[in-house]
Amino acid sequence: MDTDEISLSSPIEKKIHWAEHRYESFSGRLIQDKPIVDYLTRLEDAMQASHKEMGETGILDICTDCEKNEGGSCCGAGLENKYDGWLLLINLLLDVRLPKKRHDKESCFFLGEGGCLLKARHVICVNYLCKKITDQIDPHKLNALREKEGIELDILFLLNERLKYSLNERIVYEKCIS
Ligand code: SF4
Ligand code: SF4
Repeated sequence: MDTDEISLSSPIEKKIHWAEHRYESFSGRLIQDKPIVDYLTRLEDAMQASHKEMGETGILDICTDCEKNEGGSCCGAGLENKYDGWLLLINLLLDVRLPKKRHDKESCFFLGEGGCLLKARHVICVNYLCKKITDQIDPHKLNALREKEGIELDILFLLNERLKYSLNERIVYEKCIS
């Protein structure tokens, strides 16, 4: 399999393979890049803050109940195609183990038995609130959550850009000296 050529329309297995290949080849050097390390730390903190806010709003309870009693419905098959190789590489740098196969044919490739397997998620996944939630949760609480999620997404964007810059620079350098 060609690990150099992927696009957003590539199959998810190929994107995962690309991200794992990049991780194996370059993670040692990437984690010596101070901006990347700082962004990873800030992203972990921001994700924790968003998750805490979700708990405080009551969304986590609603989703747990929905998944248990109604099978959930928001993480359908095909949503994994929104993910590109860079976002998967970020997940590997956050110590996520990417799945090798789909757990449930009706669901997103990244939905495991206990929920989403990813830490760094696409803006669509971060921002999604179904009607069940918007009908039950106070809009002020949802705004507070949006603020936290906004911080998470801003840091994710900056990390993504830094990663592309750093990795592409490294690849050009290695081609020049080979
Ligand atoms: S977001 Fe909505 S549909 Fe998805 S698990 Fe939560 S309550 Fe259920
Ligand atoms: S939250 Fe996770 S499991 Fe759900 S659609 Fe997004 S990536 Fe897939």
